[in-house]
Amino acid sequence: MITALGTAATRVEAVKQFDRMVEILSEELAELQLQSMVMMQTPDGDQFRIHHKYLDLNNSSSDSIEAQLNSLDSQLAAQDFCYYNDVMNKKRIFFFEDFDQLIGTAFPVLDQLGPQVSKSENSSDSDKKGFLLPLVPGKNVIGCLFVWGKEIDELDTPAFSLFASQIAVAFENARLLEKIQQIAITDDLTGLYNRRGLFEIGRLEIERTRRYNLPLSAIIMDIDHFKRVNDQYSHAVGDQVLRSFAKCVQENTRELDVIGRIGGEEFVLLLPGSNHKSAHRTADRLQNLIAENVTETAFGEIKITVSQGVAEMDSSMEDLNDLVQAADRALYRAKETGRNKVVSSSIIN
Ligand code: GH3
Ligand code: MG
Ligand code: MG
Repeated sequence: MITALGTAATRVEAVKQFDRMVEILSEELAELQLQSMVMMQTPDGDQFRIHHKYLDLNNSSSDSIEAQLNSLDSQLAAQDFCYYNDVMNKKRIFFFEDFDQLIGTAFPVLDQLGPQVSKSENSSDSDKKGFLLPLVPGKNVIGCLFVWGKEIDELDTPAFSLFASQIAVAFENARLLEKIQQIAITDDLTGLYNRRGLFEIGRLEIERTRRYNLPLSAIIMDIDHFKRVNDQYSHAVGDQVLRSFAKCVQENTRELDVIGRIGGEEFVLLLPGSNHKSAHRTADRLQNLIAENVTETAFGEIKITVSQGVAEMDSSMEDLNDLVQAADRALYRAKETGRNKVVSSSIIN
């Protein structure tokens, strides 16, 4: 068991992305005729996120452990998991002769989900044994791992304990990497994508829209006479205006639109599925909303206007750079001809 689990842990470690790691973990354990479920502590403490979507439901009856676990919400509160204190605070490892019964007692919510999920006594799964292992990469517990199956034995405790600590380190590293990657593509001030993030996500959007033969448009926005805001009220107030501007754009665009702050007071909006005309309409709508948007500051209410350039991806363009450049030429025209307006690249080419 030690060797088999060691190999499984090595394969899990080799993957760098957390969700994929959980998937591989479950596949590797399935090779050993074991089922598994991972529960991770969410960053805000008292909640759990459950990664149980890889449960093998194919050969399971509706009252099986797998079916029961599958019916759990993916977000649980600490009080919904009876072993929370033992596992998360005391870092205890549990072995259960009757794993089915454990599931019944560990998650009281399962009892409320109807009779088919609480038949623990005469269930066909009662011959399954299992472990509940805290995941402790360092000082703190980051989650726990359930492993169960017919071939499992209490004598395997050291092997599973070692396995859990390897998995814990791998998970922790993956989560750290994801956090760093997130920070690297996020603009501190507004929470939008920064230039790098916009171009990274944009590259994927171009691939996706090409694959599905969808249009893709970009709007570039540059706040008018922003230097005056800074000069008149201070840089800090300027920052406040930028945040309020970002919020206004975000709240008035679709979930699938990608917004990035690519320079001091320059923003790019990518609109997957929108052609030139529809992007222009979006820009017009935002133009009015931004002009009406009020930032409350210590100096009173501040309003700003914006100039916008719109362009649609076409066959002459190779990448996002080309698209943003086309929009930027239109923006330049908007600035040149009086500001506070939208210009399309189609009319200047
Ligand atoms: P225009 O209408 O031609 O765009 O005029 P403008 O004053 O907006 O343009 P310009 O590019 O000359 O000035 C942009 C200003 O944005 C200069 C800089 O002080 C300010 N700025 C850039 N980044 C930040 C930031 O992070 N915070 C604040 N408060 N100001 C910034
Ligand atoms: Mg500018
Ligand atoms: Mg400006």
